[in-house]
Amino acid sequence: MNTEKIGFIGLGNMGHPMAKNLEKAGFPLSVYNRSPEKAEDFKENSTVYNQIEKLVKNSSIIFTMLTDDHAAKAVYEEILKSDISGKLFIDMSTISPQASGELYGAVKIKEASLIDAPVAGSTIPAAEGTLIIMAGGEEKDLQRAMPYLEKLGKTVKHLGKNGKGIAAKLSINYFLSAIYQGLAETVLLSDKLGIDRIDMLEIINESASGSGATKVKTPMLINNNYDPAFALDLMLKDILLANNAGADFPLSKVLIETYQSAHNEGFGKDDVIGIINYLKK
Ligand code: NAP
Repeated sequence: MNTEKIGFIGLGNMGHPMAKNLEKAGFPLSVYNRSPEKAEDFKENSTVYNQIEKLVKNSSIIFTMLTDDHAAKAVYEEILKSDISGKLFIDMSTISPQASGELYGAVKIKEASLIDAPVAGSTIPAAEGTLIIMAGGEEKDLQRAMPYLEKLGKTVKHLGKNGKGIAAKLSINYFLSAIYQGLAETVLLSDKLGIDRIDMLEIINESASGSGATKVKTPMLINNNYDPAFALDLMLKDILLANNAGADFPLSKVLIETYQSAHNEGFGKDDVIGIINYLKK
């Protein structure tokens, strides 16, 4: 019989649909979000807390899906004020290997466990429960987490000890940042050469250069609508994390410069493929 009580902290673009999948699966769920309005539609079938401490007290497995190091540290500082012994934390945020290691150590001292389990896939896979989950942590903790992770992702890859999930995530997002800059530049070139954007994107998506990444951004590029599914600022964060972790290649310099300048010029809150508007200038 399942006796775990699930908590979920961070109902942003990703966390909200992920927590909804756990709710739909019928697990006893508690949620918390700093801005309470994002938790409104959990009130009917789950428990909504306005204090992290209360959620922690009433949960045995706690997911966190937060912006960055700063957010994760702020939330875990609250978490660590409680008695957490025996609880399992699953941090799905993309944060630095250092911050993830610190959280792991701090939780461990208090006789609890933590898995780093960041994800590949954006808001649509999050809603469909088809994310790719890259996990680092102890085998027994993965076993305990598996019934829940399976509701969030189509693949759960256990890559080794704590930090390995983050390592894989920084690697895949490095690639993704290059894909998006390449896609934006290609579309701008074909615009300049008088090719209809719809035709060009069809060619890209049908060709060997097409991928899930190019397909998912196609409607945004056609409709010129860059409401964020994955904000450009989050991609900048991930390139800088990858660079700090060892991505020191010819492309990294260009990627950092482009995404950093796009941020400086006010494009950071747009979707990452909104980089096209910065490049167009
Ligand atoms: P988001 O929409 O900006 O949500 C961020 C969440 O963190 C919100 O719940 C926010 O609360 C919370 N938060 C931020 N600072 C906080 C603080 N100081 N204290 C408490 N809560 C805080 O971001 P997202 O797109 O869901 O991304 C979440 C993580 O997943 C990021 O690390 C991102 O890199 C990664 N990721 C995103 C995607 C994607 O496509 N979006 C894909 C894969 C991985 P408020 O609502 O109160 O602001």
